[in-house]
Amino acid sequence: MYEERIWRFLKGKLLSDCGAAGLMGNLYAESGLNPVNLQNTHERKLGLSDKEYTQQVDFGLYADFVHDGAGYGLAQWTFWSRKQNLLAFAKSREKSIGDLETQLEFLWKELTESYASLAQMLMSASSVRAASDAVLLQFERPADQSETAKARRAAYGQKYYDQFAGKEAAAMSNSPLVSYTKLSPNHSGRRKHAIDTISIHCMAGDLTVESCGNLFVSPSRKASSNYGIGSDGRIGLYVEECNRSWCTSSSSNDNRAITIEVANNGGANQGWPVSDAAYRSLIALLVDICQRNGIKRLLWKGDKSLIGQVDKQNMTVHRWFAAKACPGDWLYSRHGQIADEVNAKLSEEDEDMDQTKFNEMFFAAMTDYLKGLQNNNCGDWSQEARDWCISVGLFAGNGTAVDGKPNMMWPSGLTREQAAQLFYRLAKMVGLA
Ligand SMILES: [Zn+2]
Repeated sequence: MYEERIWRFLKGKLLSDCGAAGLMGNLYAESGLNPVNLQNTHERKLGLSDKEYTQQVDFGLYADFVHDGAGYGLAQWTFWSRKQNLLAFAKSREKSIGDLETQLEFLWKELTESYASLAQMLMSASSVRAASDAVLLQFERPADQSETAKARRAAYGQKYYDQFAGKEAAAMSNSPLVSYTKLSPNHSGRRKHAIDTISIHCMAGDLTVESCGNLFVSPSRKASSNYGIGSDGRIGLYVEECNRSWCTSSSSNDNRAITIEVANNGGANQGWPVSDAAYRSLIALLVDICQRNGIKRLLWKGDKSLIGQVDKQNMTVHRWFAAKACPGDWLYSRHGQIADEVNAKLSEEDEDMDQTKFNEMFFAAMTDYLKGLQNNNCGDWSQEARDWCISVGLFAGNGTAVDGKPNMMWPSGLTREQAAQLFYRLAKMVGLA
């Protein structure tokens, strides 16, 4: 049941299909892909099940986790320093030692920090067997490194390859305004919160979307954003909207916010200004993000105490979460204006229009139009006829026009009811009725 989540996590870290399959085959051989798996010999020795061992470690009731020599978790971490690091990592995230995502993030941390060449190999691997062997020999290093063991692990990997390769469950929506894509491995996988917030950042430099993408593609950089905008107005995609970027120094903010880095065509002394082209693209991108994610309006009060209260304020800034100038005074001071411009465009394309609302508007417009016809404007050619009609009493007018004369409403249409009345008056005059 964890297979798909593990596959998605590894693919999110940009492993190739063969690399992800080769790594998963090894994890299956180690733990059956069960993150609470305690090495069987130690289950018996300690008299604890997988679950009991995990709980006792979490609650601090079992003190020998680091040094008991028992393989544990997805990768069956055994060596004391690795178990110590895993324990510290889980504690820092306030997660159970047996939490799947925590173990996957820890695995990725180990791979990128201590096995960087293996991580690179898994990103470009084009053979499941080669990827599986590399993980076995460099990362897991089991006692049994025989040809039989290698073939068995590669076969597990091949099973995952056949099941998942080429079939990313990609119900993902990213902006169609993007003209350059360079996906970064620096993200936490799927968001744990719906998108309901916008965080605009400044690059503190005049980076193109390409140079920003090249910074974020390095795992050691440990930073990213969903989008970037260059001074030429082009928009880059670095972390898909479905994933949590590493941008705002806040897990809870990055889980719910779309993060956007904007290039600066001026320096700190000008408050990190942005070009007209970049500003226009920012507005267009924000309108698109709001429309696709059901954000009705952008709300900005410049009030840090409203973080998380998205019904009052759904824009946040980096400087609220870290000692930073980001997004620079130029953009910060324009947040209200940005919200106004985006909201004006959002209401232009009002999706709440329905028949009732249309009828009301049509009726109001029609009434205005008819009112405009209630005057005495007309051509000279009809003067004699109009004068005669008034003199014999065929037309009497309705109320007073602006010039104080009777309003005859000459340009207005004649109804059948009014026509009947006219004929009747005329017929009486000539003795027909
Ligand atoms: Zn920032």
